[in-house]
Amino acid sequence: MQKIYLDHAATTAVLPEVVEKMLPYFSGVYGNASSQHFYGREAQKALDEARDTIAKIINAHPSEVYFTSGGTEADNWAMKGIARAYESKGKHVITTAIEHPAVLGACKDLERVGFEVSYIGVNKNGVIDLDKLVSEIRSDTILISCMYANNEIGTIQPIEQIAKIAKERNIAFFTDAVQAMPVIDIDVKKVGMDAMSFSSHKFNGPKGIGVLYVRNGLKIKSMVSGGHQERTKRGGTSNVALAVGMAEALRLNRLTLKQDYAYVEGLRDYFVKRVEEEIPFAYLNGDRQNRVPSNADFSFEFIEGESILFSLDLEGIAVSSGSACSSGSLDPSHVLLAIGVEEALAHGSIRFSFGKDNTKEQVDYTVDKLKEIISRLRAMSPLYKLNSEIKKV
Ligand SMILES: *Cc1c(COP(=O)(O)O)cnc(C)c1O
Repeated sequence: MQKIYLDHAATTAVLPEVVEKMLPYFSGVYGNASSQHFYGREAQKALDEARDTIAKIINAHPSEVYFTSGGTEADNWAMKGIARAYESKGKHVITTAIEHPAVLGACKDLERVGFEVSYIGVNKNGVIDLDKLVSEIRSDTILISCMYANNEIGTIQPIEQIAKIAKERNIAFFTDAVQAMPVIDIDVKKVGMDAMSFSSHKFNGPKGIGVLYVRNGLKIKSMVSGGHQERTKRGGTSNVALAVGMAEALRLNRLTLKQDYAYVEGLRDYFVKRVEEEIPFAYLNGDRQNRVPSNADFSFEFIEGESILFSLDLEGIAVSSGSACSSGSLDPSHVLLAIGVEEALAHGSIRFSFGKDNTKEQVDYTVDKLKEIISRLRAMSPLYKLNSEIKKV
């Protein structure tokens, strides 16, 4: 049976070139980067190079790049570290209803210690309303957080405009760019955010490492106490091998970004077109224009997303229902509910996320199987029989 991976928003494979580049740093150059002898200096040099490479790609200064254990830690650190650093100014935070659970969880933690959080809704395409954002701003607002691109429906937010709104009012602005970084050549100076998180394993780097970009001048409290690593902001012995891998993965990603973007978008558009033409009662979620090239999120009416996922899995096709983080729970996705998808329909949703390793043949095979599976599941659904006749009339 062939295996088809259509879950690139959950994670991606580490490229062989990246593995190659990392290997010497496990047992050859194994020094502690904080040590003052030759072994340490060698490790420190590799760590510095990795930081420089990443800083250059995002147009930041190396001192603005902090390594973390991934996107989740970077999100938590940004939300809590910035809120805590500015709490004497106020305790109000604004975020959106469609953030990743890492940001929403951090918001809940902040609420438990006396912060107030406003969750801005989005329109039916999943884009935030800037007027609404402005109207939520108060004199005690200290932090605005809005993800760059959504992990479930792929919607891209007007980040530059949000950065401008925040800057004019002297409010810190953080963006979770974990889904955006693999597909958008982000320039932090041009966009003007104060802080930004991204994660290596979403762009063919190793898991367990990410970056929090913090603009020089922005205050942020340390969340992991320990040694002097990461300019005393994040303790813990530096993971040199993973940092080297992350930098190499991002460097390689940028070399072919344009071609890869066009290729993946072509596959995705072809997939969407076939599904919309050939499968009745299938609805694409999210914005058609402001969207990452890799994402197609569909709701299939009258059936359960989980049943579709398991049937595709049996055919060797890997997808996600809702998001990897909310699957396993029976609650419908908070993102789909936020864009106004009704609960029953939200339960029938599947996220397909494409990558440059996918082929047109794989897309065709997937649509063919999907058609079969959906007809079969609907044939067993009394709801479908009843409703499809009513809707035809
Ligand atoms: C994957 C993801 C994260 C979490 O990153 P990890 O490195 O897996 O912890 C955070 N935010 C978004 C939008 C994501 O897609």
